[in-house]
Amino acid sequence: MARIGFLGLGEMGTPMASRLRRAGHDLVVWNRSPERTAPLVQEGAAVAPSPAMAASRSDFVITMLATPEALEQVLFGTGGLAPALSGGQVLIDMSTVGPDEVRSVAARLPKGASLVDAPVRGSVDRAESGSLDVFVGATDEDYERVRPILETLGSVRHAGGPGSGAAMKLVANLALGAAIVTLGEALSLGEALELERGVLLDALVDSPVGPIVKAKRASVESGQFAPSFKLRHAAKDLRLVMEAAAARGRDLKQARANRAWLDEAVKSGAADLDFSAVVATITGVKTIVD
Ligand code: NAP
Repeated sequence: MARIGFLGLGEMGTPMASRLRRAGHDLVVWNRSPERTAPLVQEGAAVAPSPAMAASRSDFVITMLATPEALEQVLFGTGGLAPALSGGQVLIDMSTVGPDEVRSVAARLPKGASLVDAPVRGSVDRAESGSLDVFVGATDEDYERVRPILETLGSVRHAGGPGSGAAMKLVANLALGAAIVTLGEALSLGEALELERGVLLDALVDSPVGPIVKAKRASVESGQFAPSFKLRHAAKDLRLVMEAAAARGRDLKQARANRAWLDEAVKSGAADLDFSAVVATITGVKTIVD
């Protein structure tokens, strides 16, 4: 069993940390809002007063934070983790922050400490059941070190060298953004053509966006979008997609349009609802906050 620090106990971090603890790892946790550490303490985890203090009693430190800006704060801000890391320690970043941020962080870690990027696909239910898809960017040696830990969280794939897991995750969320916006626009057109929503959803379930219809039908029909994957994070992911593409001279016209819909949903006040609330923005239906 490993000594693991876990920083970031949000919707995803909490069930992931809990699985690691229940697998028998020696766990120390930290979260910006300290009250969110309580459920983990009940399960036997220790609490570190700062990210830096988590480093002193861990061989591996996992970060599961909202954005690249949050990761910067936790690693390099006051009481930050990065200067406290030393040779042989591994930082596993599981947040969705994109490959450019991952590589920038790796270049600023103390000598001998390594960074593995391991963002995940799948939401809270799959974090609870340990069935996430984990996309890992790491050297072969680091991959073999982190694999047994990550296997507690789901199915682990070695996408390539450092940064490759973060890159794979952006590709996955480009596709997710396209699917949910396509569902919204399909409903928008269908309803403008005076087709009923139930009839439309019955037909769309067998279309190329079928999986997202199955996953989000209940929310779309009820107009209740309790957050599992927050819309603000989906909008952030499409920002990262566009930035990564632009830096490499790629023009992603459809992703740009999908991002515009998500940004419009954020502006309408849906940032903390589930990302599927963008369907309500597109179809012009008022959302009900749970
Ligand atoms: P969340 O519930 O919004 O939690 C975000 C975490 O980041 C919280 O621990 C929050 O601390 C912390 N945080 C935010 N800003 C911070 C700052 N400036 N300094 C320090 N800590 C900060 O997000 P989540 O759903 O767990 O997602 C975490 C990451 O996984 C995101 O990158 C997301 O895109 C990705 N992801 C999410 C899902 C999903 O379905 N939810 C699926 C796959 C990937 P506080 O508690 O203090 O706010």
